[in-house]
Amino acid sequence: MVDEKEVMDALSKVKDPELGASIVRLGMVRKVEIKGNDVTVYVDLTTPACPLKDEVEARVKASLSELKEIGKIEVKVGAKVNPSRIIMPEDILPTVKNVIAIASGKGGVGKTTVACNLAIALANLGAKVGLLDGDIYGPSVPRIMGVKEPPKTDGKKIYPPEVHNVKVISVGFFITEDTPLIWRGPIISNVLKQLITEVEWGDLDYLIVDLPPGTGDIPLTLAQTLPLAGVIIVTTPQPTSYTIATKSLQMFKKLNTNIIGIIENMSYFICPHCGKRSEIFGYGGGKAIAEKLNMPFLGEIPLDSFIRERSDEGQPITIDISHNEASRCYYEIAKKVAARISVIALSKYAKQDVKNI
Ligand code: ADP
Repeated sequence: MVDEKEVMDALSKVKDPELGASIVRLGMVRKVEIKGNDVTVYVDLTTPACPLKDEVEARVKASLSELKEIGKIEVKVGAKVNPSRIIMPEDILPTVKNVIAIASGKGGVGKTTVACNLAIALANLGAKVGLLDGDIYGPSVPRIMGVKEPPKTDGKKIYPPEVHNVKVISVGFFITEDTPLIWRGPIISNVLKQLITEVEWGDLDYLIVDLPPGTGDIPLTLAQTLPLAGVIIVTTPQPTSYTIATKSLQMFKKLNTNIIGIIENMSYFICPHCGKRSEIFGYGGGKAIAEKLNMPFLGEIPLDSFIRERSDEGQPITIDISHNEASRCYYEIAKKVAARISVIALSKYAKQDVKNI
């Protein structure tokens, strides 16, 4: 007869492929059921967007199958996202486990498009996701996401509308293009404060925050006020973009914000007619720069007119999981982001340096 101790010993030897530590030590084994020699293991991955789900399952099966009298092995995989902060400030997003900022050195690199598609991809992979549009200079999230209704409020709380499985709040709901410039400064500060404290997000695994571009006061204040799990920097392949992106990186490093990684947008061109790929700005620069700066490289997204068309229609490309190469790129990146957040969250518990995991 197989007993619980030998099953747990076998499971202790299984390492999470991403985190490199035992799945038992990481608290990923929720339950074990033993009936005679048949074993069912309930494993909670650290994110539903786990890129190595099959690998974890295979490792569990391989380790258990070494037990002498083992019968049928079943692995049931679920997910439980860990919060990247242990102490939750009472009034700042208490129901949000991980806040992810999306930043860029300058406008026009596709930061908002990345924020929207990343949010949709994470949600479609099974996570509870919110999207906060803090880009006061051009709040385009509602248009890209195709939000039809403004948020509801009961006088105390603001309730975000949900589109494409993502809850969305934008400064654009509160500041219109007609808001006089002279009012903008104080209004913006108040609106941002309100958005951080008064929105009723409900339980969220990830809140994606689209920061304004650059290193000005507003991105700085937002980065300091929000309990960030980390920041993602979006850049494009041209050398000038990198120089500017590096400035952003330096600002976040000074603030001690974890850098989740760099995404290179508009990396290569896909011809809408023949589907041929051309590397118009040169290739591989993003990865090289990330290595030089010792930052994780999360991936690249092609320059594809379909991305813009779908954004303009309020139907971002990631609504269809594997519609085309660009959409697949977003899903791969979303999985990498989720894995990095898991490492950051677990490192807090283990009190280890993120880089050392
Ligand atoms: P930012 O937020 O950095 O100012 P946006 O996300 O608003 O940039 O994108 C700027 C323009 O580029 C938009 O018209 C958008 O649809 C388009 N765009 C973004 N990423 C891509 C891409 N990979 N391929 C083609 N067009 C893109």
